[in-house]
Parts: sequence; C-alpha cells; structure tokens
Amino acid sequence: MSRTDPPPEKTPRARSENIRPEHILAGIPVSPGIAIGPLHAASEPALDLPLVRIAPGAPEAELARLDDAVAKSKKQLDKLRARLSVLPEDSQQEIAPLIDAYSQMLTGSRLLRQARRGITEQKLTAEAAIYDEAESLAAAILAQPIDDGASRERRADEIAARQRRADEIRETGRRLLRNLTAAAFRNFAAIPQGAILMAETLRPSDAALIDPARIAGIVTEEGGADGHTAIMLRALGVPAVLGIPGLLAAAKPATMAVLDGETGRLTLGPKATSLATARRAVAGYARERQRLARLRRLPAETIDLEAVELQGNLELLAELPLIAQSGASGIGLFRTEFLFMNRETLPDEAAQADIYRTVVEAMDGDCVTIRVLDWGGEKDIEALTARGLVPDTLDHNPALGMRGLRMLLRQPDLFETQLAAILRASRAGPVRVLLPMVTNVAEVRAAREIYDRVAKRLRRRGEKFPEKLPELGIMIETPGAALAADALALEADFFAIGTNDLFMYTLAVDRAATEVAALYDPLHPAVLRLIQFATEAALRMRMPVSVCGELAGNPRLTPLLLGLGLRSFSMSATNVPRVKQAVRAVSIDDCARFARRVMEQSDPARIRELVNSFGLGKKE
Ligand code: PEP
Ligand code: MG
Repeated sequence: MSRTDPPPEKTPRARSENIRPEHILAGIPVSPGIAIGPLHAASEPALDLPLVRIAPGAPEAELARLDDAVAKSKKQLDKLRARLSVLPEDSQQEIAPLIDAYSQMLTGSRLLRQARRGITEQKLTAEAAIYDEAESLAAAILAQPIDDGASRERRADEIAARQRRADEIRETGRRLLRNLTAAAFRNFAAIPQGAILMAETLRPSDAALIDPARIAGIVTEEGGADGHTAIMLRALGVPAVLGIPGLLAAAKPATMAVLDGETGRLTLGPKATSLATARRAVAGYARERQRLARLRRLPAETIDLEAVELQGNLELLAELPLIAQSGASGIGLFRTEFLFMNRETLPDEAAQADIYRTVVEAMDGDCVTIRVLDWGGEKDIEALTARGLVPDTLDHNPALGMRGLRMLLRQPDLFETQLAAILRASRAGPVRVLLPMVTNVAEVRAAREIYDRVAKRLRRRGEKFPEKLPELGIMIETPGAALAADALALEADFFAIGTNDLFMYTLAVDRAATEVAALYDPLHPAVLRLIQFATEAALRMRMPVSVCGELAGNPRLTPLLLGLGLRSFSMSATNVPRVKQAVRAVSIDDCARFARRVMEQSDPARIRELVNSFGLGKKE
C-alpha cells in the first residue's frame, strides 16, 4: 500500500471488499513450474442441479441428507479456520470474517429453514431446495430498494454490502451442494484453455482426468505433498500448489493469478512487475528443460562410471510420451489402479492385457514393472465399491485397513484376472510383477501360489508367454515390511521401496493431509534407517532393489541414496533429467562417505544441513 492510500477501513468485512491489487497466498508446492492465467473454480460445474428435483423417497431421508451436508460443511469450515494461523496477519483478517459468516449461515439461518420447508412441503430434493433458496434469497437481497436520499457514497457502500451478503449466501449454498452431491470436480471439459484450476480439494481420480495441455496450473485448499493427487500432477508436469488455507474465500474466479509450483505462492491480481518476473521465470523453465533434454542421450553413470538405473513411474497411458522423452530406461512402477478409476465397470482380462501390452511395446525392450491393483487409502475406485467388492463405509482408518495386496487376497477373482492379463502381455517384452502394501511373508507366499496357479491355467488354455515367469517382487512401504526385509528377501524376487507410504506409516502422518504436512519429513532418520535396513537385506541376497517413492525423484537426495547402496530409482518422468544430472555429478566413494556421516545423525535438522551442504565444498 502506498503512503497516499486512504487509511484502511476499520471493519474486517469491509476490508474483504478491498482486495489489494496484488495479494499473495501461500501453500504447499507440489509440482514445479509457473502458471499465469485466470482462476477457474473447478467446483462450479458440479453445482448443476441434478435432473431429479422431486425427492423419490420420504422427506425425512432428504432432511437427513441435508443435515449431513450441513455437518460436513461445518467441519470443513472449522478445519479452515484452524489453518488460518499459518497465513500472514492481514490475510487472516480478511478471510476469518468470511468463514465466520459462512459458519453462521449453517446454524439456524433463513437459508436452512426455508430449504427444510421446501423439502417437507414441496417434496424437493435437498439439492433443489438449497439451490432454489440460495438463489432466491440472494436475488431478494440484491433487489431491495435503496434509500433515495442517501449520498452517492452511502449508496455505493450499501450496494457493495448487499453484493457481499448475496455472495456469502450463494457460497454457502454451493458448499452445501458440493457436499450433498459429493460430485467431485469432474467437469474439466468446461475449463477455459490456459486457466488455473482452483478447487477445495482434488481427488487422485479427478487429477487423472486433467488435460495438461489445457490447464495452466492447479491450486487447492486441501492436500499434501506426496498424496496421489500431487504425484499425478507432477507426473503430468502441471505446476501446482496444494493446501492454501482460505483459498476459496480469498480468491474469486476469473481473477488473474500467477502460481509458482516451486515456492508454493499464488499471487492474485499480480502487478505488472510481478507478471514480467513470472514471464521471465516461464522462459527460464523452458531453457532449463532444453538444457536437461540434452542429457537424455548421456548415460546415467557416476563420475567413477558406476551405472545407475533411472526409470519412470506411470499412472496413465498419456504419460508414455513423457517417459520416452525423459530418457528413462523402462518403467519401475506402473500404478495400475488408475486404470480402474473413473469408469463404471472393471476392465476385464482382455482389456487389461491390451493396455499392459501397449505399455510394454512402447518401452521397446526396457522392463516394465507392473504393480497389481493398490486399492485403498485415498485411492478409492468407485467401480469396486459399487460392486461391493470392498467396503464402502470407511469408518475405520482406511490407510490401515483393506488396502493393496490385502484386498487382492480377499478378492482372488480380481487378482487372478490382473495376473493373467500381465502374463499375457509379458509375451511382448520384459515385465515384472509388483505386490503393493505387503506386511508379512505369508502374504507373499499366498500371492505366489495364486500367481503360479494362474500361469498353469493360462498355459492349459494355450496362452503363450515365456517359460520363466516374470519376477514377482514386493513394495517395501510399511515399517513392518522394512524391518522384516531379511525374511521377505527369501520370498520375493525384488524389492521396490515405496518411500511415500513408508514415511506415512513410520511417522504416523497422512501423506495427503495439509495440517500435518510439515511433519512428513523425508530426512527423518527413522525412515532413512528403514531404507538402509531393507536395502542391505536385499544387497546381501544379491536381489534387485529400487526406490520408487517420490524420494527417488529428488536430486538433492540422490547422493545419499547412492551412498546407501541403491542403484535403481523410479520416478515421475519430469524428474528423470534432474536426477541424471545429480548422478553424473558425484562419485560413489564420496556418496558412501556422505551416507555414513548422515546415518550417524539422529536429528533431522542436522541431516538437512548435511544434505544441503553436500557438494558445496563445505567441510561438514
Ligand atoms: C509409495 O508408497 O512410495 C509408492 C510408490 O506407492 P504409492 O505412492 O502409489 O502409494
Ligand atoms: Mg504406496
């Protein structure tokens, strides 16, 4: 604010009108890059009224749905309020009164009273009742006559106050509708080209529908750095910032914004100088991409010529070209659960075999590690829940429940179909099979029995695939698996260390949660020790071991992982060139010395210091 500006208005609500020309919000940076464009609220399309306006059942059921949506909305607002403290003081003052206004409207307001009446008297659905009421209340407020005798200034204030009130009612209605329809933010087709998509939250299955050529960036109120949404956005190369508290209250749709996926800043209404800086940064990214692209044909080897395998993680077929361009040597983690999302029926054996074959052929002789379905946790697959194959009421802790291999062993049909499809595709090129969420040896033995049985059945059926079955490996992504790695190494053919879940389960921090995101620390010695233990167990058995969690794609950690003995990493294609650059800059001897030094530490802050100073020539 310049010195000549009038003094700020006293009431916090009036301040919210006065959005400054440039306003910066901060969240969790999850996918690097700069996006410049208008904000588009992804939740808007979900607010189309369902076609059914008259409730098919009793009004009591609709009233209960409305109560449920009100309770959910209140919870969301409480959560938002709790997170405001991380915002700068002036942003807090701007957003807090809005949240209060929304909350008040969820307790005995006219909106709710009238909507309840619409449900009981006109037999409306809860959605229709809320929509009608929010719209007519907002329209009535805007239509009220204004005192003719009032000064121009007072009239302008009055109009602004009414607009604000109408917006608050509509926003409360929208929140209730979002919670009523549970309609995710699916209608991405309506997003204007080049817009920054803004949403309260984005599920992994929603992220899977995003077209990176259309959307400039993503910003949300909820989400953590290593949730699957973040992973998807990184894989697609879409600049993204998640977990900005109060985003939807502070940022109006169509506002011009600059999003920085490296620093986590969202600049609303950027000044000309900020826009110019952002444009220079965009050009800088493009130059860096070109520079890194030149690494593509160079070998991934250290200064002392130790070869390192760098592979890509795949979620969607759309990422195949990115993997090919990145210079990755094959796919170290194919997250097949994404094939099962956003569809009403499950893909059958033939359909899956076709997809796996496409991927194997695209890799042209490089190995593809296909992980069998990892349903559960935040990765909900509606086609499975709808068929009753998995519980749809997740009142227990879903991350600790029926996830990954546990679910597959309970649903052998699903498991066998997928294994059969993978075996059929293995004719087309080298493949490995990877089991998710393993915690004990009995699970691996059970899985191998099923695997052998499926192979025999296929051969009887006359299917042709290599005599030697593709290797069957396991994810090391639970502390239980890491600590039992020596026993598991006797059962599995290879290990893939999944650091994302390993952090989550070791540190008791939900990987997709915003509130505890700061505790999700890749440099916590507990996790590093588990990685070391599992790696050494594999190396003793001369068994292949790789890292395929997000840690693998962080070039700052490459020296440490090399020093721990790891030589194989699988990551988002976008990270391959940077990690290759890191590999080519170090010698194994230096890395080993460095890792020994790091592993003596027990303080994550000290480890961070060491990691940051590696290669800077500083004496640690
Ligand atoms: C992991 O947990 O580190 C992993 C690679 O699997 P996902 O991220 O799919 O859970
Ligand atoms: Mg995992």
